[in-house]
Amino acid sequence: MTLPASDAHAELHDQLEALYQALLESSPGSVARAGQREMLHAIAAQLADARFEPDGGARVCVVEAGTGVGKTRAYLAAAITLARRAGVKVVVSTSTIALQEQVMGKDLPELSEAMEVPPVVALLKGRGRYLCPVKLETACNGEQTPMTLDDGSAVQTPPLERFIALKKRWDGGTWGGDRDSLGPEDLQLWGHLAADRHACTSRHCPQFHHCPYFDAKRAASKADILVANHDLVLASLRSDASALPHGERAIYIFDEGHHLPATALSHFDCEASLTDRRWLQRLDKALDQAGRVLRYPLNLEGCTSLLNQALDDLLRGVMQGVGNEALGHLHEAAEANQAGQNPSTRIRFPHGLLPEELPPLWQAMREQAQRLHDRASEFSAWMKEARQDDETLAPLIAQQVSEIGGPFKRLTDLLETASLMLEDSEPPAAKWLDFTVAGGGMNAGSLRVVAHACPLFASGVLRRHLWPRMSAVVITSATLKALGKFDYFLKDSGLAGVDGVRALEVESPFDYARQGQFTVVQTKASPKAATEHTAEVARLLQKDLLQVEHGGLVLCSSWVQLRAITAALPASLLRQCRVQGELARETLLREHRAAVDRGERSILIGLQSFGEGLDLPGRQCEWVFMPKLPFMTPDDPVQEARAEWLDGKGRSSFTELVVPATGVRLNQWTGRGIRSETDHAHIVCYDPRLAMTPFGKQLLAGLPGFAKRLRRLDGSEANL
Ligand code: SF4
Repeated sequence: MTLPASDAHAELHDQLEALYQALLESSPGSVARAGQREMLHAIAAQLADARFEPDGGARVCVVEAGTGVGKTRAYLAAAITLARRAGVKVVVSTSTIALQEQVMGKDLPELSEAMEVPPVVALLKGRGRYLCPVKLETACNGEQTPMTLDDGSAVQTPPLERFIALKKRWDGGTWGGDRDSLGPEDLQLWGHLAADRHACTSRHCPQFHHCPYFDAKRAASKADILVANHDLVLASLRSDASALPHGERAIYIFDEGHHLPATALSHFDCEASLTDRRWLQRLDKALDQAGRVLRYPLNLEGCTSLLNQALDDLLRGVMQGVGNEALGHLHEAAEANQAGQNPSTRIRFPHGLLPEELPPLWQAMREQAQRLHDRASEFSAWMKEARQDDETLAPLIAQQVSEIGGPFKRLTDLLETASLMLEDSEPPAAKWLDFTVAGGGMNAGSLRVVAHACPLFASGVLRRHLWPRMSAVVITSATLKALGKFDYFLKDSGLAGVDGVRALEVESPFDYARQGQFTVVQTKASPKAATEHTAEVARLLQKDLLQVEHGGLVLCSSWVQLRAITAALPASLLRQCRVQGELARETLLREHRAAVDRGERSILIGLQSFGEGLDLPGRQCEWVFMPKLPFMTPDDPVQEARAEWLDGKGRSSFTELVVPATGVRLNQWTGRGIRSETDHAHIVCYDPRLAMTPFGKQLLAGLPGFAKRLRRLDGSEANL
């Protein structure tokens, strides 16, 4: 019997309230929070009518939940209740391992404790974080896959004994095949051992039933709630054999959802080296060997040498077209470079337009790459059939596939890069070449050229590939709005104007006006005059940092600024600072916490990675200093190409891109100050544009409700 809609909604309301109450009772010290309850019911109301069927359309709930709302509990309770009613699963996707661990280690156990029938939960990481036992076996036989760095230079293969020692741990059951449980020494082996779709024969592999990735996948298939990450969700769009449930059979929750557009873009970002061809030799050798071993009549008809030739022609064309410019920059970079750094430069093609001599060369190269790809794919299809016909061939085929897989992926990357390079779309893809001189010497043999192409906006990618596959989605984060509006995020994520999308803000329970103060400091030097401004801020900080009684955080917008500020600090103060780059981040944070706990002054100085996701409650962070507004990196080629396209259309990249993105980042940086109802913090920004310019005032208005003050040049203060 189906309940009338109003009864069904009342029943859902009661179920949600009952679970929420049980959660409070089963978690000691937990108190009901108005924002948490609001979020719980808002998600349920928005997704209750989701149709879990093909082409049913997606119901999407976008929630900006201020710090302290307790959003994880709210979305887990709403999602599991709805999922049980609809007979579907829940996928929680995060952007960081830290949040994955928090959900697995704290929030899900709490939920299980509160439920009469606890959900089955599982964690699934990307395939590349699990060991491939076939590769480990191969490596222990002394046949490690040669590795190269991004710039194409070779990586020294680790000694055989280290692979053998790791295999002993794997065979003895003291290591479960998970990358994240390896020490730094063993991590150096990982490039040779990671599971990889292209080198895997899955269920035909002799190790299939002892394979950590497939074990995790089997556990995932039985789970009611699966914890994954954005990378995995987006990678699953390109895989027919995804480990994740189809969007029609699950409620998807994207926590740290503000990262989703950038992650989506990175999945469609292509790159291929034009100079490093060792993979091509390896592919030729591996195909040839597999053909002989399996007695397959492989006829490559010189495909590899023709492709090599086409790559030579393309590289020659590139050097004739832009080589002089690149070499000029490289010589300058070599002169200015610090010892030990490889000179590098980048040439971006404005408006995605290649010089006219290059498209025919890319086209010719793509044709040769496609021929080789076709031959290798035919052979792969034959191997599939052969092992179905004769299971005894499976181990031999698995070994051959593991050899072919790595270089075959490079061929696929090359094809995808060529296709995007040749694409003539609107807006055009961002296209560029990175030139690096490996080994420090400026000679032709050491030049590496890597081609890149990337779609300009994530919105099209998500709108085409992700949202049509979804039925019920929650996107949440503490920072989704920019300048007080959801417009920028909705546009960026391809959800603007889409039916079935609701965006809401759940306010933080913190009393910002009482708990914090945001001070804008007027400076003589304009922040646009970077050197003078940084020097002035460095002088001001020498005094202001002395006000920090316990923990403080200085967030710089560039390495140059960070170095200049730390160089100007007196030695006595510098000794109380922990500076990014000096030690591993976790070590710095551990030392900082310990120093504050001992009652000492400790100041962390870092860049963007310290401005987001850093939880330093109470005395750990009572002051946050920002020398300058956190504008996005000026040398990111995709951002540059976006700005160029918008400006070319008569629009303003500054208004449409730069200001909203800065607003999101400013909110994140500011958010480091107050982490609980009892925290108090001072936020100080030495960028007077916040008080003096229209865009600055917009940014200021988009911040939480701190008491806002202006410190003038003479030291006097006024309300803002
Ligand atoms: S080839 Fe595939 S199934 Fe076999 S061990 Fe490696 S990752 Fe697992």
